[in-house]
Amino acid sequence: MKISYKTPEELKLLTDKTRLETNAFLKKLKKKKPKKLDDVVHELHHEAFDEFDCLDCANCCLTIGPRLFDKDIERLAKHLKMKTVDFMQQYIKTDEDGDSIFKDHPCPFLLPDNYCIVYESRPKACREYPHTDRKRFYQILDLSHKNCETCPIVSEVMEQLKNKF
Ligand code: SF4
Ligand code: SF4
Repeated sequence: MKISYKTPEELKLLTDKTRLETNAFLKKLKKKKPKKLDDVVHELHHEAFDEFDCLDCANCCLTIGPRLFDKDIERLAKHLKMKTVDFMQQYIKTDEDGDSIFKDHPCPFLLPDNYCIVYESRPKACREYPHTDRKRFYQILDLSHKNCETCPIVSEVMEQLKNKF
């Protein structure tokens, strides 16, 4: 699988261009719920991550902030040797859905070379993104379609999936 870096703007254009086709494909997939879907997606996920280095990208860290759970916040504060209350005051705000997110965007812990300063203690959402190795992938088909606008790996996995089912 050949994956090349694309900016979020390029990925958005590509996702828009293929939107009708992808919608039809996902509709078919939701109806069929193929038993092998997880196995196939997970194989594509591993192939993609063998091929592509997230350090050449960081689109997710640059454009979509993770949702933060209390445990994430406590772990990050500890990593930075800060009191949780001070960490929250400096870095966290609540969004319109009542979820905790980083105040600043791009992520305050992203370095110019795309390394994450808090990598070992990064939030759960960062660990799990872009979810292409998740069980019961059919539950996140629409989310994955949305993620095609940000992540070159999801975009390519989606195209490859179309050839497999
Ligand atoms: S915490 Fe690290 S992995 Fe998560 S968005 Fe920030 S820089 Fe990216
Ligand atoms: S997970 Fe996707 S969007 Fe994030 S850095 Fe890796 S390739 Fe880029």
